[in-house]
Amino acid sequence: MNNKKLLFLSTFLISFFILKINAQNFNTDQLDMKVEDEISIILNNMTIEEKVGQTCQITLESVLKKDKNGKLIEPHQIDNKKLKVAIKDFKVGSFLNVSNHTFNLKKWHQVINKIQKYSKLTNHQIPIIYGVDAIHGATYIQNSTLFPQEIGLAATWDLDHAKKMAVITAYETRASGIPWNFSPVLDLGRNPIWSRFFETLGEDAYLASEMGKSIIDGYQGGSEINDYHVAACLKHYVGYSVPESGRDRTPALIPQRTMEEYHLPPFYQSIKNGALTVMVNSGEVNGIPGHANKYLLTDILKDKWGFNGFAVSDWEDFINLYKVAQTDSTLKDAIATAINAGVDMSMVPNNPEYKTYCNLLVELVNEGRVSLERLDDAVRRILRVKNKLGLLKNYKKINIHQYKNFASDDFRKAAYDAASESITLLKNNNNILPISKEKSILLIGPTANSLNCLNGAWTHTWQGVDDQYNNDFPTIKDALKENYSKFAFFEGSKLIMENKDEKDVQASDLQQAIEQAKSFDIAIVCLGELPSTERPGDIYTLELPKEQQLIVTSLAEEGIPIVLVLVQGRPKIIREVENLADGIILAYLPGDQGGSAIADIISGKINPSGKLPYTYPKYNGVKMHYDHKQSELINANTWKNDFYDPQWDFGFGLSYTNFEYSNLKINSSLVSANEDLKISVDVKNTGKQRGKEVVQLYLRDHFATISPPLKKLKRFSKVDLRPNETVTVNFIINSDDLKFYGINNKWIVEDGKFSIMIDDLKTDFTYKN
Ligand code: BGC
Repeated sequence: MNNKKLLFLSTFLISFFILKINAQNFNTDQLDMKVEDEISIILNNMTIEEKVGQTCQITLESVLKKDKNGKLIEPHQIDNKKLKVAIKDFKVGSFLNVSNHTFNLKKWHQVINKIQKYSKLTNHQIPIIYGVDAIHGATYIQNSTLFPQEIGLAATWDLDHAKKMAVITAYETRASGIPWNFSPVLDLGRNPIWSRFFETLGEDAYLASEMGKSIIDGYQGGSEINDYHVAACLKHYVGYSVPESGRDRTPALIPQRTMEEYHLPPFYQSIKNGALTVMVNSGEVNGIPGHANKYLLTDILKDKWGFNGFAVSDWEDFINLYKVAQTDSTLKDAIATAINAGVDMSMVPNNPEYKTYCNLLVELVNEGRVSLERLDDAVRRILRVKNKLGLLKNYKKINIHQYKNFASDDFRKAAYDAASESITLLKNNNNILPISKEKSILLIGPTANSLNCLNGAWTHTWQGVDDQYNNDFPTIKDALKENYSKFAFFEGSKLIMENKDEKDVQASDLQQAIEQAKSFDIAIVCLGELPSTERPGDIYTLELPKEQQLIVTSLAEEGIPIVLVLVQGRPKIIREVENLADGIILAYLPGDQGGSAIADIISGKINPSGKLPYTYPKYNGVKMHYDHKQSELINANTWKNDFYDPQWDFGFGLSYTNFEYSNLKINSSLVSANEDLKISVDVKNTGKQRGKEVVQLYLRDHFATISPPLKKLKRFSKVDLRPNETVTVNFIINSDDLKFYGINNKWIVEDGKFSIMIDDLKTDFTYKN
């Protein structure tokens, strides 16, 4: 046997052996063993430094040219020397984002092609995996198609819209050469003051799970990811969204039961649906930082759920273990903790910090504090995902001509449809809406003429406040002007940034607007907030600022009928002015097409069909959700169990037509384990206009050893009905839907009485094992 053959045979045997060891940890059913073999061979030929490099992710900024004051040179230029050091010397395997910029496709191609060219300088020549936050469209690519933010998407209660958003976002992201998207956010929106509330799919675990699965389908396009799809990244595993203080990245307290029943299911469902990567919670839960939580990362995510992909840290979070959480006393300890807990890739992300990270991790492996098996496992997971994305061997250059639908009319239309089906009509006294074209309109308010406010953060730049990259789409003012000839616009109040906080100031034209109010038929008042996210989005109160309230109270004094349009990522408390308005439209953050969609709902071209994906609070200090318990209801004023008093309930939303529910039927009033319960209900459009209705099925467990919520969403379906049309909607549930996390920390179902509730109808059944 010649030397070459001997080398091949020994490599093969070693790989086989390693594969056998690793295979014990993986859900082997889902693994392609040929690929696993290939990865084993690559791993065997990699040095520790090369393996460590694969676990390192840096920002594009860390390889860009800077001037002598340390500022990035404009337009951005890659510094070849820095790039070479990162890729050749430190063997960095991943890049992310772009600093405060949006590139056009051509620029992205230059950037990605150059980075991939440099990856050829490494021994193994493994291409780089580039990731980006394309969270409501390809947000960092000029002229891309921008959809409603996730909170609006959830308000459509339509899985097709969720999937389409993801298909189009994947297509446009891939067109730039980027194959990995840090989306969707599956954290639950159960703390409305949290700055990233708008990035969630609302407060309900079932709605978020269903939407999340559709988004994964859209991003990844099934098991074989082709050139038009991207790897999804579930964020932020897990419990990030409910900080006790309401401020971003501050501690959360989550009882095990709440974790199991609320926060884990959306992640579990998307993992089951094939999501390839996960990003770790930057905060801490019950005192344990997300990045140090071996139980959640290894025992649950990887071992119990069989997740084969990789977990990436969030921004600087290895460093934060010792700088912020102070659970480790040195950076080196922190790196050991995070990698040993199960984080596979570190978003370091800056220069020179990434070099320190690489050096320290090499040391840790050499010292045995991080085992070679753990490092190999992390790299194997990363290479597995790279392989899925065509990034294990030769990098195939992006063909610009392959993406002819980028920013096409069809894509814009899909974003418009999603926006118009998300917008939620909350009040419509005396049918003030829709407003006929003959009426004269006084338009006023700080969000009426701002595309940035419609889009929110993560739009062209991180905070979304820079307007230099904006697309040419109408604001609410532009779009309304097209529909109404008798029209005047006033600012009323301005939203500005002062000392890094949003401030509302009264605009000089408010007085003029009030004086003229009597000469208009209707005032449309657009309220809301400036785009912001993460720490810059922390606020002190949910109360609508007094400057904005003043617009409403002043106009009301003039006796002009008022329609409020709320352009906001989180629910602002409007209790004091709500009764002064006849119509209220909640637009969430509807994206680039939001101006047109809002105007078309106001004029009646679109019949609204959005439903609240969260409980809209009436009071700043009362945090209650639709799925509250009887024990939360005691009212010290009435001594009755009637305390629940939100501004609007979860699932609420009006239409320009009416729907009547009847004939709620179940196929059996006695159900036992493994038996399906079939449910049907008739829904009729009794109004004069075609409309869509979300049929929502809730379940109540009357008595349980863990005090049960009064209702929980179990199924939903959106139907489209012409006037007088009736449809029978069918649902099936089974004993799994009746389960809760029991007293012995196991999922159980207890015998007893249950109710099915749809709209105002209710029917009971008994479960007996
Ligand atoms: C955010 C993540 C985001 C990452 C990269 C972090 O600050 O928490 O959601 O994906 O930055 O931009």
